[in-house]
Amino acid sequence: MFVDTRRVENGTVVETDVCIIGGGVAGITLALELEKQGIDACLLESGGFKADDETRDLYRGEGIGLPYHFSDGCRGRFFGGSSNCWGGWCRPLDPWDFEKREWIAHSGWPFGLQVLAPYYERTHALLKLGPYNFDPAFWEAAIGRRDVRRVPLASGKVRDTISQFSPPARFGKLYRDALARSRRIRTFLYANVLNIDTTGSAKTVSRVQVVTLSGRTMYVSAKLFVLATGGIENARLLLASNKDQPAGLGNGNDLVGRFFMDHPRLQSGSIRFTKEWSRNKLYDIKYHYMNAAVAAHGTCIASQLALTPEVLKQERLLNARVWFSSVFPGEGSEGAQALFRCKQALLHKEQAGWNLSRDLFTMISHPVHTVGYGYTRLFQPRSLIRDVKFQAIVEPEPDPNSRVTLSSSQRDRLGMSRVEVDWRPGKLAQRTFDRTFAILAEEMQRTGIAKVVLDPPIEGGEWPSSLEKEGTWHHMGTTRMHDSPKQGVVDRDCKVHGMTNLYIAGSSVFPTAGANFPTITIAALTLRLSEHIAKELRSASACFSKGTLVGANLQHSPAPVDEQPVSAKTSSTTQPIFFVPANGK
Ligand SMILES: Cc1cc2nc3c(=O)[nH]c(=O)nc-3n(C[C@H](O)[C@H](O)[C@H](O)COP(=O)(O)OP(=O)(O)OC[C@H]3O[C@@H](n4cnc5c(N)ncnc54)[C@H](O)[C@@H]3O)c2cc1C
Repeated sequence: MFVDTRRVENGTVVETDVCIIGGGVAGITLALELEKQGIDACLLESGGFKADDETRDLYRGEGIGLPYHFSDGCRGRFFGGSSNCWGGWCRPLDPWDFEKREWIAHSGWPFGLQVLAPYYERTHALLKLGPYNFDPAFWEAAIGRRDVRRVPLASGKVRDTISQFSPPARFGKLYRDALARSRRIRTFLYANVLNIDTTGSAKTVSRVQVVTLSGRTMYVSAKLFVLATGGIENARLLLASNKDQPAGLGNGNDLVGRFFMDHPRLQSGSIRFTKEWSRNKLYDIKYHYMNAAVAAHGTCIASQLALTPEVLKQERLLNARVWFSSVFPGEGSEGAQALFRCKQALLHKEQAGWNLSRDLFTMISHPVHTVGYGYTRLFQPRSLIRDVKFQAIVEPEPDPNSRVTLSSSQRDRLGMSRVEVDWRPGKLAQRTFDRTFAILAEEMQRTGIAKVVLDPPIEGGEWPSSLEKEGTWHHMGTTRMHDSPKQGVVDRDCKVHGMTNLYIAGSSVFPTAGANFPTITIAALTLRLSEHIAKELRSASACFSKGTLVGANLQHSPAPVDEQPVSAKTSSTTQPIFFVPANGK
């Protein structure tokens, strides 16, 4: 059931078993699982069913240090969260991503891949992926095309890997009906959590304060609380909830917001394939995404190259993934960029400040580039490829100085401090780019696949201007997991150290991030968390009494949820809701 918080009576207190904050991939996954377990929960989501500018503005913040964009278009603040704009790349982390590698400071998870494996398997239904199989030989055979072939890799230094594409699953749309029908989950839209209130020397969360942009306030009290607002906001909410703990909740060891990570992404080099390999689509991003040629079992896939774990160890490198990117005429021109934005808009991708008339004007002003680029993107004629480049993402090195903090001067419309993000991808990441490209080039030349001209190494210098300024939109690490409270914000069960009933879901708990895209791991961790929560509630059930609804019967007469945001003036209809414990206390 959905409730429009703007229509809830001011000062209403809602009681539930589990309060989930944030309706993105993690929050919706958890809500769906709790429903299956028969657990009552409230899902509090800042936005509505569609993006709106006022809500989006709450995400605005400042990148300090290295240029870094993380607001508009780099995350989505409405029902479904950033799944409203994600690309759908999915691949579980590698086994060694979980290990402590002595050449990478602060590396390692409290558990290994085997703990997450059963949950990774279950994410395939959730994310609408193909068979739970990432073996390149399996996919090559299943596709069975001459132009989708694995390259020979003889040296033992390089390996090929498979990623699967989710369609991509837009969680807000995909699971809206299930949550609307739910008898256990009440989803509050336009519900911005402003503060997490605690008792018992900030050890136990008593309730959260919810406010709407139209000026309503509501409180939700629960037995357990789960923060699922994304890799930056999870830290922001903890830091901003500083009434009882001046440094912020869970921040007794000054770790919240530190170790912020994103995957640095670079294009580099120039690759000339031999005739035999020049038509191969398996590793080229321009031939991926919904391309029926690179698909089997109803699933689009992509292959990327990586160094073997032996080489990573020997050379003391971070993990990395590399693919090719063909360059077509007109690419990068203003007309091409305008055309690309229009395509994104057609796909309902979130793009702040997008203006159709302006882009149409740009395209008309640059007809040759626009039409040329459009034609080549549509038909991808091999004969028109101007160049082929490496494109790589590298595992970020966990660094306590790479961090999210609260701004001392900037506040959003709700009065919450905005964030400042100081992203530091690190020197080891630079060396990893250099060595990965060099070893790959050597391999491709030795096997006669291609001739490669490398760009100059970047180690020790400034990051090149081609470094993508929004990273890869993967915000991770700010509430990292560690068995010791001195080294992590949450424990292995995603519970905040030192607190009795506060959990965190999402990539902010990743202690190390590997070089794969994070969402499948977020989903796997959340499935695991749902089991833990169900167990904890069951074992504590003797101590709790169940909440019962009095007042308006929300199961049958929810306040209507508008598609359009309404201002304070128009949100006059109120629906009083009260929950009291069954024992009347
Ligand atoms: C352009 C783009 C492309 C991407 N491509 C990929 C990809 O190909 N593969 C991949 O694995 N990942 C990709 N990602 C990353 C992926 O989208 C995220 O990893 C994933 O969505 C994170 O899920 P989440 O639930 O933790 O956070 P989110 O999806 O960000 O959800 C957080 C939710 O919390 C809500 N919220 C925030 N603050 C509050 C508050 N104070 N009160 C109440 N609610 C609040 C937000 O409105 C939002 O709905 C991409 C991201 C972007 C932006």
